[in-house]
Amino acid sequence: MKKKAIYSHKCDWCNRELILNGSDSDSYVITAEYKYFCIIQDKGKPAERDCMADYLNDINEKIIKKAKDLETKKRQKEEQEKLEKEKRNLERVRVLPKLEALKKEFKDREFQRRLSKHPS
Ligand SMILES: [Zn+2]
Repeated sequence: MKKKAIYSHKCDWCNRELILNGSDSDSYVITAEYKYFCIIQDKGKPAERDCMADYLNDINEKIIKKAKDLETKKRQKEEQEKLEKEKRNLERVRVLPKLEALKKEFKDREFQRRLSKHPS
């Protein structure tokens, strides 16, 4: 008796090996993109396992998350730009006194160095 070839394919969601034909075949669905998903469902009952639904839910969640992330990033960027602007405004005010203070410090140091070089 010639054995019929058994085809199998991994579920694109849970990676379970699906038997595609023969008497031990699993129930599965193939999408238009040739993705394979297991589906275990008795007639009139909610699906026991529905990998395509899980897969689609996951994609939906990813899209929602991405949209939220983008929104958060946009808001963060706006906040950051606002802070940068404030910082620049503050720096413009602060830069001069700071420079003066630095110059004074250098002068003082130079003065002290000269003093220590020539002890009286
Ligand atoms: Zn699966």
